[in-house]
Amino acid sequence: MKAMSKSKVSRKSVRKCCICGKPAFSPKSNHCFACFVMIRRMEHENLPPECIKEICEHVRRYGHVCFYTKIRLDRTDPKSPFYFVFDHMVPGEDKVVLTFALLNEMKSDMIPKEFWYYILQLDRYFRTGQKIRKIKLSRWYRLAPLLEAKQGAMMLLPSESLKALAKKCCLCGKPVYAPRAMYCPGCHQFVHSMDNRGINNDAAKKILKYVHRHGFVCEYTETPLNMTDYKDPFYYEFDHTVPGASKVALTFSLLNEMKSEMTLKEFKYYVGQFANFLRTGAKIKKRKLSHWFMLAQK
Ligand SMILES: [Zn+2]
Ligand SMILES: [Zn+2]
Repeated sequence: MKAMSKSKVSRKSVRKCCICGKPAFSPKSNHCFACFVMIRRMEHENLPPECIKEICEHVRRYGHVCFYTKIRLDRTDPKSPFYFVFDHMVPGEDKVVLTFALLNEMKSDMIPKEFWYYILQLDRYFRTGQKIRKIKLSRWYRLAPLLEAKQGAMMLLPSESLKALAKKCCLCGKPVYAPRAMYCPGCHQFVHSMDNRGINNDAAKKILKYVHRHGFVCEYTETPLNMTDYKDPFYYEFDHTVPGASKVALTFSLLNEMKSEMTLKEFKYYVGQFANFLRTGAKIKKRKLSHWFMLAQK
């Protein structure tokens, strides 16, 4: 009897984290170091108290794992793709959940339902070649691309005289916009946008060749691109196939956002892992990313 009460006392003297139950990091603290850091970050990011409470409750129940995938979070290295971050579940709304940097990047401005929808669509395309079916995104608030404002000088002729010109756009075959022009108005703008975005000659030539052959479709997924409305998630964009390298592919803004700082191979891998998790509940297997240059969180 005596021995038992003694061990009770000594157990009591080790302070435990009030969130996750691990030993507190100092005799005066109510938290383990991981929870302490997490709470400081939440306060620093001005999360509303109810959100902080809910996130703590999540950690209490499941530990330091992602809300969406239950994957273990990295709590120490801000440069890790699995470093913990807080995600606005619905962009623009208050509810915030615990997740990791990579998922947060891939989810971009989507709500969870939309995110999982596109993960499954991409996964199916990568596996079977079945084309992506577009759905509208409820929270896609893209701003005008920075460089779009600077457009190539283009003297438009009235459409009547355009039709009269026998000369055809060398890219798409529509009538050119002026007697000495090579392109129709749309393609002219496209070529200039490559110039504006600093895409080098070789890369631009490859893209033009691709467009000439396949039309304005995404190089990764064959999805038809929106060429006029920058607010559309399928608005055309150029993606550095390997982050930081000069090779560029034609794609759309949603995919570009989701691919983040991954190579195409890495992107396909994680799309597959996420899709598999969604379908079967199988754990996501972490793999190192070669070009993950996330800066330390502020
Ligand atoms: Zn803790
Ligand atoms: Zn054209």
